[in-house]
Amino acid sequence: MLDPVFRHADAYLAGLDDRPVGLPVEPELLRAGLAHSLQDEPMDAGAVLDELVAGVDPGLVASAGPRYFGFVTGQALPAARGADMLAAVWDQNAFSYVSSPAAAVVEEIAERWVLDVLGLPSTASVGFVTGAQMANATCLAVARNVVLARLGWDVARDGLIGAPPLRVIAGAEAHATIFSALRFIGLAPPELLAVDDQGAIDAGALALDGPAIVCAQAGNVNTGAFDPLEPLAAACREAGAWLHVDGAFGLWAAASPSRRRLVAGLSDADSWAADAHKWLNVPYDSGLAIVADREAHRAAMGLTAAYLVPSDHRQNYDYTPEASRRARGFAVYAALRSLGRSGLAELIDRCCDHAARFAVLLREGGAEVLNEVSLNQVLVAAAPEAVARVQADGTCWLGGTVWRGRPAMRISVSGYGTTDDDVDRSAAAILAAITGP
Ligand SMILES: *Cc1c(COP(=O)(O)O)cnc(C)c1O
Repeated sequence: MLDPVFRHADAYLAGLDDRPVGLPVEPELLRAGLAHSLQDEPMDAGAVLDELVAGVDPGLVASAGPRYFGFVTGQALPAARGADMLAAVWDQNAFSYVSSPAAAVVEEIAERWVLDVLGLPSTASVGFVTGAQMANATCLAVARNVVLARLGWDVARDGLIGAPPLRVIAGAEAHATIFSALRFIGLAPPELLAVDDQGAIDAGALALDGPAIVCAQAGNVNTGAFDPLEPLAAACREAGAWLHVDGAFGLWAAASPSRRRLVAGLSDADSWAADAHKWLNVPYDSGLAIVADREAHRAAMGLTAAYLVPSDHRQNYDYTPEASRRARGFAVYAALRSLGRSGLAELIDRCCDHAARFAVLLREGGAEVLNEVSLNQVLVAAAPEAVARVQADGTCWLGGTVWRGRPAMRISVSGYGTTDDDVDRSAAAILAAITGP
């Protein structure tokens, strides 16, 4: 059974560098190879895979390759990809210690390594969730319970109906998933704070009069900007407020000695959301919900049932909204182990250097770069038609956005395998697309 899998996987990876990156494709083309009416009889596994591989091919995006700059998309490190494939083979239920002692201990160790490389308190807890969306929802659910407790309300006992008003505050440039996370956990949209021209919160705009939840951001999806965490943390501490940091990709700046200044004050926050499937270059789906107060994290997420025997071992279900789930900690463990501290710092720095190279080449070619390129994001003034031309060309892929009323394209360099040559080829394709047909 695994032979055809490895053959298909090898062929895909071997062609990845040369494959057009995300050419537009009509769903009809995909349906033509896939939309069979479901037959009565079982089908041979090898034939199922052959048919699936052929059917999906025109719709596979080379996001695992070196010239995909859309959204914030990491490649998958070989060790992480391998561990993730083994996680499927082992088919562990990472829910509890008894359901997989291996998954419990690996997540316990990966937790320690994550806190170490990010410079976060060693006593904090990490839940291995699907992505930053769920990391935000998990952290904010813990925050909600703790801050409402400070206001004299027990959410676990009494629910939310009838609870005292809870102020939730975020920057005007907070990520869309902060809004959805608040919606999931029964809270109203946040009050918005003014931001500067890069999208970072103006710390002076924060006026707290008591317990509240403040959502800061480390790494704006358009500009890469960081909210000023040091003054925000100080203000929160003084008011008894909870500071949550959405650092889906930007949190990894903490792992690089040369970028760490961007996240000064980071360790004084109460919770942090990060993605492993973005800048740590782990395959999807992999996010990290990190909470300074382990007991509060467990109180908000944990399970009790007659069939769950209490034990001193790590119970992964204490830290995530899911019960049964895939053992996604294996890939995080493998990524950190294969990179080491210096390899991770180099990965972060290399991506930032590539972003700077993009900015130089594009400016030299007459394009207008709209952001201060201090991280891995480059924002280039461009009409939507120019974005479509880049996508149709296939040299690289990036998406469009609107920044302060101006249509733009977003370049996010987040993969370990991108080279100077990839940047040069892509910059040429982008300039050609901006100049016109
Ligand atoms: C990507 C991103 C998210 C959402 O992460 P998912 O992994 O897509 O769930 C949240 N916040 C920021 C700042 C992001 O860049």
